[in-house]
Amino acid sequence: MHYLDHAAGTPVRPAAVEAMLPMLTTEFGNPSGAHRLARSANRALDEARETMAGVLGVHPGEIVFTSGGTEADNLAVNGIIGARGGRAVCSAVEHHAVLEPVEHLGGLVAPVDGRGLVDLDALAELLEGSGEPVTLVSVMLANNETGVIQPLEPIRAVVDEHAAGAVLHTDAVQALCWVDVAAAAACADMISVSAHKFGGPKGTGVLAVRDGITLAPMQRGGGQEKGRRNGTQNAPGIVAMAAAASDVVAGRAAEIERVGGLRNRLADGLLAAIPKTHESAVPVGAERSNKTANICHLAFEGVESEALLFLLEKDDIMASAASSCSSGAQDPSHVLAAMGVGRQLAAGSLRLSLGHTSTVADVDAALAAVPTAVERLRDHSGYATNEGRHG
Ligand code: PLP
Repeated sequence: MHYLDHAAGTPVRPAAVEAMLPMLTTEFGNPSGAHRLARSANRALDEARETMAGVLGVHPGEIVFTSGGTEADNLAVNGIIGARGGRAVCSAVEHHAVLEPVEHLGGLVAPVDGRGLVDLDALAELLEGSGEPVTLVSVMLANNETGVIQPLEPIRAVVDEHAAGAVLHTDAVQALCWVDVAAAAACADMISVSAHKFGGPKGTGVLAVRDGITLAPMQRGGGQEKGRRNGTQNAPGIVAMAAAASDVVAGRAAEIERVGGLRNRLADGLLAAIPKTHESAVPVGAERSNKTANICHLAFEGVESEALLFLLEKDDIMASAASSCSSGAQDPSHVLAAMGVGRQLAAGSLRLSLGHTSTVADVDAALAAVPTAVERLRDHSGYATNEGRHG
């Protein structure tokens, strides 16, 4: 099997499994309890909190454990608007976990350019003309479909100038393996991450919230996480997440090199082999330094993603069209639409995403299978490619 869908979910790292097992068996106490077993679970949580704080460049008290990226994003948006009122603003390429709560609360969406970067002038205009004070701006650090990395400093400057006092949140769920989040998000007030994107288990994440920022809780209960996220913490998942994050940080620079090399071999090979193929957010021949090292995102003219994924799976290749955490439905991608990619081309997109278990064999399997599958689908639909490759 060739797993090329790491952006959807990663295999759990051995260090994370090892850290998790005792929490499930011998150290199973409720971290809020008073006895020895409970205290030991609570100590494990404290250690995990310190680790995650180091990874994200915040203080341990600023870590709020959540049930994953979706909860962290929802807590960021609902928590600020619930506590302060005012309006929320996010970019047009956000994951639905940000986009939906922002739109649900009557917030505004800032456009991006063809490279997937927030249009700073349009953002400034939106902040000035929002009708009521903007209290939250949310812009993701790395996009889950294209891998485009958004520099946050310029966003921070626009927010400070045009919506002074607003909180800046960043969804760094896709970034942790490929970007030094502590440095890249140093100017953000809140940061979301999710364990299953970096070799931890599903259902565990963090919202880092800078001191002095009050959140309205999404559920009321026992006061865990200083009342910011009530409910018994998923101690096994949290401990495993911290072990995975430590692993990531220790090997990050080398993995960016290794996986970036594999990704370039894959993207360059497919672009050379398949005419009428477009790489999102990367002009022909340009470096891919604007993207995370693991994502190869291509769109093939005259092809339907769904059929392509079906053929690739027959060759034992697991991939995605766009974001695969939005129910599996093949809706046209709002990310590509926001970048100005036409509906027809967007319908032929393929995301191959690599990660810590990816090998040359995985890449070579895709290099062999994708051109054949695309050709088959184009033959079937009568699509002609005799004009040669462009874009
Ligand atoms: N944000 C981004 C950028 C994502 O890619 C995802 C999942 O794919 C999420 C949020 C949601 O995270 P989770 O699956 O942990 O709920």
